Amino acid sequence: MCGTRVNIEGSVKTLTYGNVSSVNNNPIEKKPFFHFAPGTKALTVGSWGCNASCPFCQNFDISKQPPTPGLTEYMSPEAFVEMATKRGSEGISISFSEAGTLMLEWNLEVFRLARERGLYNTIVTNGYMTPEALDLMIDAGLDAANVDVKGCEPLVRKVCGIHLQPVLDNITHMREQGVHVELTTLVVPGLSDDMACLENIASWILENTGEKTPWHVNRYFPAYEYTEPTTPLDVLLQARDMARDLGLEFVYIGNVGKRGLEDTVCPVCGTLCYERLQFRSRNVATTPDGACASCGHDLAIHFNLSTELA
Ligand SMILES: [Zn+2]
Repeated sequence: MCGTRVNIEGSVKTLTYGNVSSVNNNPIEKKPFFHFAPGTKALTVGSWGCNASCPFCQNFDISKQPPTPGLTEYMSPEAFVEMATKRGSEGISISFSEAGTLMLEWNLEVFRLARERGLYNTIVTNGYMTPEALDLMIDAGLDAANVDVKGCEPLVRKVCGIHLQPVLDNITHMREQGVHVELTTLVVPGLSDDMACLENIASWILENTGEKTPWHVNRYFPAYEYTEPTTPLDVLLQARDMARDLGLEFVYIGNVGKRGLEDTVCPVCGTLCYERLQFRSRNVATTPDGACASCGHDLAIHFNLSTELA
């Protein structure tokens, strides 16, 4: 279905190994990660294809394009990690398309090499992979994952062609294995803008990964085959307030670009601790061990050890 594996004379071959669609040195906040290595840059790479079928895909130019190895330049794991070092990246990120899963064999090599060089390893993923694939990545050195929780059953299966439960199981497994996890829900009209569904997601997070799990509720824009209008800001604000009332401490509104929606504010004393706006970020009042500088409340912000505090 994803178009990244072929049967050649009876054996399964990958078409995505080192077949990269784009490489960019991005702020880690762009993935988004807000509580992992803030203020650093990750050399970010994507490939082609996807194992979900969302009609509103925001990256459809690469995800709906099957890989064609002959038309793209091969990049070795060594060359990629070397590029990260040369460009001054503090880590790497497998992102853009569903490359975390679909470029797995290449990622495993990259993760091992990156870790040897002191770089961190992250993926941005729909989380729809087997436990075996996930364990391979964790063993190779996966440090952090941002996972989509796309909505609720049965709509997710109907609209995106994936089952929700394996995604949720992978999220809890990552946490148990010490992987830093942030969650993202693209609030799509007609799929995941229903407040009862959003409340289900927030409750699941609270019960399974805890109140300090960052949850990004992001604005959708019409794309690919989906023509519903852009998510109204009111719906995003309502979702954030609902989740905060339930007890989630760090809920962020993404893809809007208005001041205040992406900041970390201490849930206990109200101090502005970390300021962010459109991928620029500034440590205002967070201690080196990730707590509020005013009251000491644990904000669960994990600074990269090699990063100087602002
Ligand atoms: Zn505080």
